[in-house]
Amino acid sequence: MRCIHCGKIINGTYYTDWAGNTACTDCYNNSPRCVSCGQFCDSSAKDIDDGMMMCGHCQKYYMERSDARRMIEYINTIYEKEGLGRITNFHLKTANTKALLSLSGNPQVRGLAKQHGTEYTIFVYRHLSRTAFANVLSHEMLHIWQYERNIQAENVLSEGFCNLGSYVVLTSIGTNRSINFIRSMNANHDSIYGIGFRIMRSIYSANGWPGVIKKLTEKNNS
Ligand SMILES: [Zn+2]
Ligand SMILES: [Zn+2]
Ligand SMILES: [Zn+2]
Repeated sequence: MRCIHCGKIINGTYYTDWAGNTACTDCYNNSPRCVSCGQFCDSSAKDIDDGMMMCGHCQKYYMERSDARRMIEYINTIYEKEGLGRITNFHLKTANTKALLSLSGNPQVRGLAKQHGTEYTIFVYRHLSRTAFANVLSHEMLHIWQYERNIQAENVLSEGFCNLGSYVVLTSIGTNRSINFIRSMNANHDSIYGIGFRIMRSIYSANGWPGVIKKLTEKNNS
């Protein structure tokens, strides 16, 4: 077994990522992961933005500006079929690490939905594969859905609702990579994003979106 990063034969402890790549202890501790999919980087990985590395696969399926319209349409077709309706009332802007950090104050953030009066803007990290971009965009679009209806749910429900949107879109994409994003949402321990997703997903499997929306708007109605 060889380390994907340094190429040395691994004796003893090794680490694997979601794609089944193996890395030695040294590389595991010191090498960056792909900013888009999280897998270990090999020599095909490239520094795309201030030390952020992207693996060869994500470079190949890179989200281009010209893909945006088709992707929004793809997500809206799913949301329409799910009974949520189309979400079109927003500007989509892409941003690099620095810009997202100054907008959000959090270096981990890959997407953001902002409201200025009745104007809505979605910011998504510029350097992602199409699948990773769809994951972020479908989440942020459901923030717009909530803004438009003036729904002010607790964070855990609001973020869980948005993650459930990513879940149905990633399920529909149905590739190894999209399923892996679902796997990481399932395994996410975050008290807002992880817990919120599991609350909403279990309501969704029992009662569909009507049940989920009822939960989301409980406070508004009381
Ligand atoms: Zn190594
Ligand atoms: Zn990748
Ligand atoms: Zn969110």
